[in-house]
Amino acid sequence: MLDKYLLFTPGPVNVAETLRDAISNKDICHREPDFDALLGSIENKLISLFQIRNRARYRAVVITGSGTAANEAILSSVVGKGAILILSNGEFGGRLHKTSNIHNKRTHLIEVPWGTPFDLNQIELYLAAHQIDVIAMVHHETCSGMLNPLAQIGALAKANGALFVVDGVSSVGAEVIDMEACNIAFVSSSSSKAIGSYPGLSFVVGRKKYFKQLKHHAAKTTYLNLATFYAFLKDHGQTPNTPAVPLFFALEQALADILREGVIKRYARIKARAELLRVGMRRLNLEFLIDEADMCSILTTVLVPPSISVRNLRARLREKSIIVYEGKGCFAGKVFQVGNIGELSDYDIRFFLTALKDVLLTLQAEAAELVSPVKSKAGRLVMLPTPDRFPAKVVS
Ligand SMILES: *Cc1c(COP(=O)(O)O)cnc(C)c1O
Repeated sequence: MLDKYLLFTPGPVNVAETLRDAISNKDICHREPDFDALLGSIENKLISLFQIRNRARYRAVVITGSGTAANEAILSSVVGKGAILILSNGEFGGRLHKTSNIHNKRTHLIEVPWGTPFDLNQIELYLAAHQIDVIAMVHHETCSGMLNPLAQIGALAKANGALFVVDGVSSVGAEVIDMEACNIAFVSSSSSKAIGSYPGLSFVVGRKKYFKQLKHHAAKTTYLNLATFYAFLKDHGQTPNTPAVPLFFALEQALADILREGVIKRYARIKARAELLRVGMRRLNLEFLIDEADMCSILTTVLVPPSISVRNLRARLREKSIIVYEGKGCFAGKVFQVGNIGELSDYDIRFFLTALKDVLLTLQAEAAELVSPVKSKAGRLVMLPTPDRFPAKVVS
């Protein structure tokens, strides 16, 4: 075991040492100028992260709560009596739909199978046939690793007079999101994915003119009312309720680190790291769930080789201090997910690839022994053709 876990997950992530220092900053009161300055600095840095050209037109609120809090704040507050269309091609699109159903009577859904791209024609026809006021979509559908098309959906929203709101929880900090060019009214994200900070904070960046309109809707929530967040930001430079101040210090530091490196440079670095992992995993004969061209650069969704159980794979990797994710919903047992965000070095990536090879060889050799007394040749990955000849529990 190493003295730490290497989190090859799509969040939480290994945080930088600069953040450990930042989180133990002095105690301050959130109704004092110190906090106003801290929040102001975070807001400024978020606007810079999104590379917004017309900065005065956008604002950012920070919410104490994970990414789901920011999503629920948007869905509870932007629709009012209007109609919202949710586009879903995975677990997180499904969650947007579930949340919207709680808050909005007129919730529409276009759903395609998990891991499948949207059919833009179908969406265009749907918008022509229905009065839709808001369109909501996940940018990076984390369950499959698929990036959904912001520019195209944003253009359709604009052409149909609808607001476009985006769940950017797992893409902000790693992928370009051009709010201006893509007509995005609001984007949500969290502190603990590609931003690289501790879990517990989320934020919504949005067009000022749409923030102003929120007061006309009666959101049925106290804590997650986006209009209230905006009013406190505008009038006091503060948050409506007691914020998790130490996490704000850490988030400010994480954003400062990103901006110091340079946004574009950072995106390129994350992408290069994903590429290193993908090349290495392909060399181990592993196959991926979706086309690489459709993938976000923060994680890779890998098909589990026949004869291997995800549970055993994760357990063996954990013994080597490596944490990977398992597939959810219809992908459960069929895929595992390897993230590449947070503080992971090239050395860590090579360590991971070596460990993964060892674990795959061991598990396949064990499975081969159960199928036939002839051992697989040591040092070679052999795909066993008959994974269902023995019950999974015998393997564990
Ligand atoms: C992780 C994730 C969420 C939920 O975020 P939490 O921080 O777990 O609340 C929402 N949407 C997407 C796309 C995610 O990846």
